[in-house]
Amino acid sequence: MPARILIAEDHPPSLELMRYLLGAHGYATLSAANGREALDLARQERPDLIICDLQMPDVDGYGVVRELKQDEGFRGVPLLAVTAFSMLGDREDALRAGFDGYFSKPIEPETFVAAIEQFLPAPLRTGRNNGG
Ligand code: MN
Repeated sequence: MPARILIAEDHPPSLELMRYLLGAHGYATLSAANGREALDLARQERPDLIICDLQMPDVDGYGVVRELKQDEGFRGVPLLAVTAFSMLGDREDALRAGFDGYFSKPIEPETFVAAIEQFLPAPLRTGRNNGG
């Protein structure tokens, strides 16, 4: 079964690009426009991996990681941060907060899905990345 991936992103063009790229590689996606929606959807839908923008209204990415990392049910679910304003220290802050990985925007269409797949166990990958 291909992974089900939750994307939390308040910038619609970035959300659409990530959805498109993952969908084109056979992954099912769920979308949230802020951290509160992301937490609700994560608990309802139990995705296999979560991609989370750091800067979002209501509950931001740090709020999402703080709550989910306290939740036994999300142990082993990779939580990946993305951020538009990549500043010195962002990466370290994100990893220290509990994110398993970090990506800076803009999303690179050629490499995005392969980078995400590194965080998925092999049985959850679609294997559609061979040969680019
Ligand atoms: Mn944002």
